[in-house]
Amino acid sequence: MAPNCRGIDRREFLRLAAATPGLAFWSCEEEQSGTAAEVGMRYRPLGDTGLKVSEIAFGAHGVDNPPLMSAAVDAGINTFCTSGQYLDGLEEESLGRAMGKIGAGREELVIITGNRTRQGTSKQAVLDDIDASLRRLRTDYVDVYCTAEVRTPADFRVDALFEAIEVAKQAGKVSHLALSGHSGGMQACLNAAIDDGRFDMFFTKYDFISYPDQDRILERAGQRGIGTIVFKTNAGNRQKEVKDLEAGGLSFQQATWKWALTNPNVASVAVTLTNFDQIRECTAAVGSTLTRPEQGMLRRYRDEMTDKYCRFCGTCEASCPHDVAVAEVMRYAMYFKYYGREKEAMQLYRALPERCSAVTCASCPAPCAAGCPFGRGVHAELVEAHRLLTISGA
Ligand code: SF4
Ligand code: SF4
Repeated sequence: MAPNCRGIDRREFLRLAAATPGLAFWSCEEEQSGTAAEVGMRYRPLGDTGLKVSEIAFGAHGVDNPPLMSAAVDAGINTFCTSGQYLDGLEEESLGRAMGKIGAGREELVIITGNRTRQGTSKQAVLDDIDASLRRLRTDYVDVYCTAEVRTPADFRVDALFEAIEVAKQAGKVSHLALSGHSGGMQACLNAAIDDGRFDMFFTKYDFISYPDQDRILERAGQRGIGTIVFKTNAGNRQKEVKDLEAGGLSFQQATWKWALTNPNVASVAVTLTNFDQIRECTAAVGSTLTRPEQGMLRRYRDEMTDKYCRFCGTCEASCPHDVAVAEVMRYAMYFKYYGREKEAMQLYRALPERCSAVTCASCPAPCAAGCPFGRGVHAELVEAHRLLTISGA
């Protein structure tokens, strides 16, 4: 079962919200001018790693498109994020093929990959996984290796991981170690990883609705030399549901990237790039600051989505007499409904142990519904999620 959220309940959320006027619009008190004119890519140091990453990173999720990758490199994007677990390694293979075709020197690129390691994973398994990634990526080294989908500190406190990374570093196969995840337990994980002192980078979900204390955590990470790349800045990607949100030529996506980059402790925003228009949109966003109309747009989205958007915090799971992994199920439903990644969402759902799926929800009185501090319609959402994620023919 997915872990419960640690460190945020309704009272804590409201306290933090009250202590953070505007809820994480913390750098926007002044009018920030700026246009969407293309100013060229900008780069930021990734903590103390010595790496300089483009403010937009290429989230290579499902991409098999060398011309697109080539266009991204031409636009100045030098950072590529993938994982050995995506599509059973096919994503790394695609990225490796593309890198071979576009002619960019390996040293010009920052490659970030990784996989899940858990208690019981052996040192040799981690080393084998690194070697498999290098083979698929057709490279001698990765700049950063992530232990991925971490949900609790126990998930990363795996001696074999650190021992393997030391061996891989000495062999020149891995330069830095990162922690990656997007569950509600991430805040506890990030704090514990800062104290642990062995991580060079965080790769984490970050948006303008969830986790108001995340800024403090990223600031602490920055003070310890840990660089942060963020993703899922769009808080559910449901802008079409907010009437006239993008009226007047505003772009919600651009505003979310710009918002994330207002945080000096964020080195880069990873965006899943699947077409050329997105590359143009990213390039236009970089270098232009968040305007007042964009701030207003994000506030409107936040206000309208506050009881609709699942933070994946897992708080409601404590009320479930079964083992339903509510946060995971909600995340897969989001991929299905709002990300256009139906098949992948269904695959992920199928991979859940049945006891963690929402199969029992339809016939349950749903004590979990009272357990969501954000007042979401948990029961109906779970029933719909199960229906969608098991639908045939998608
Ligand atoms: S509806 Fe029932 S089975 Fe489903 S998550 Fe809620 S409490 Fe658990
Ligand atoms: S439904 Fe509510 S409590 Fe449950 S994971 Fe989503 S936001 Fe958290």
